[in-house]
Amino acid sequence: MPFTHDALIIGQGLAGTVLSETLASRGLSVMVFDARQVGSASHVAAGVVNPIVLRRTLPSWRASEMLAVAGAYYRELELDQEADYWKPLPFVEIFPTAQEAAIWQLRMRDAEHKHMLSSAPVSDASLEKLPQPYGYGVVLRCAWLNLQAMMADHRERLIASGALEERIILESDIIRKADGIEVLGRSAPLLVHCGGPFNTVPGLVPVRGEGLTVRLPGLGMNCMVHRGAFIVPMGDDVYRVGSTFAWDDVWSGPTDEGKRHLLDRLHRLWSGPIEVLDHWAGVRPASKDRRPIMGRTGPHEAVLSGFGARGGLLAPWCAAHLADHLLNGKPLDPEVDVQRFA
Ligand SMILES: Cc1cc2nc3c(=O)[nH]c(=O)nc-3n(C[C@H](O)[C@H](O)[C@H](O)COP(=O)(O)OP(=O)(O)OC[C@H]3O[C@@H](n4cnc5c(N)ncnc54)[C@H](O)[C@@H]3O)c2cc1C
Repeated sequence: MPFTHDALIIGQGLAGTVLSETLASRGLSVMVFDARQVGSASHVAAGVVNPIVLRRTLPSWRASEMLAVAGAYYRELELDQEADYWKPLPFVEIFPTAQEAAIWQLRMRDAEHKHMLSSAPVSDASLEKLPQPYGYGVVLRCAWLNLQAMMADHRERLIASGALEERIILESDIIRKADGIEVLGRSAPLLVHCGGPFNTVPGLVPVRGEGLTVRLPGLGMNCMVHRGAFIVPMGDDVYRVGSTFAWDDVWSGPTDEGKRHLLDRLHRLWSGPIEVLDHWAGVRPASKDRRPIMGRTGPHEAVLSGFGARGGLLAPWCAAHLADHLLNGKPLDPEVDVQRFA
């Protein structure tokens, strides 16, 4: 059958954005279908890019490799689009106990982790306004990613070139043929599902997250801080505070319980006035084994999902890896292959 496009994509969250951009940069003509839905993760994500699992003071999965690919990808995109999406920012972990402080010191001596952890003071006088009886450590190479601006710009470009249709695609809209797929009159030899938590994908675990946008007059902080919750500066003493994790009733947010939890964490850090400007919730597409999920799900279909709480860090490597597999036949890393859940 003569195809209208090389690839169709359902979903333009972070996964669909980075994948469609990656495929287009490799010369493919891509058509994206997306309609914003309540619960979409990328529309509420705080944009923290942090390679350390703070609970364990250990690097996240393949952190160095993911960081290198992510940094290069977002910077290249910025140059290409003359935009600012990627802002390197210190990430300060305020130790809740002396034991946490000791573990940090221990990890800093470990050759494998020392390039990501530091105990050098951060030059931000506002940190003195936050209680820190056991001191703090700094995660190196962190950044704040303005992923909502990045997605909005990408969407505008897709719409301008007729490559995005704002529609919810129903299962009955997907026509599977012997040599390809047709969706609403568009056809291609390949359809990639990037529907995040809205997709039914083997191994996918939806996890609700909530956050607050607050004004903290007088704090004047320019770095990202974490203690029980993170605080990300947005300018003019406005901060994003997050996030909660809930595995039940994932579509029920934002909840009073989530707000109480976050305000409680914030009160432990900041004794000044707090003005809540917004309360948001979304559903993370996480996975059973905390690895991304990608690969072929049918003769002409594939999936890209499972970014969990680290979409900003994982998306560029995952999109490139999936593109290498689908276009060049490069074997998928078994750790991320959707077939591991078959
Ligand atoms: C509260 C919260 C805070 C977070 N903070 C961070 C953070 O600081 N740093 C970080 O890296 N990550 C963070 N994350 C995680 C991050 O948001 C996700 O990993 C990532 O955004 C997932 O992107 P996605 O494209 O897979 O899914 P989504 O963002 O959910 O996108 C899926 C898109 O597909 C569309 N779609 C689905 N089905 C259809 C259909 N049938 N037809 C048309 N459109 C469809 C949806 O409407 C949506 O637009 C956070 C998540 C939450 C919930």
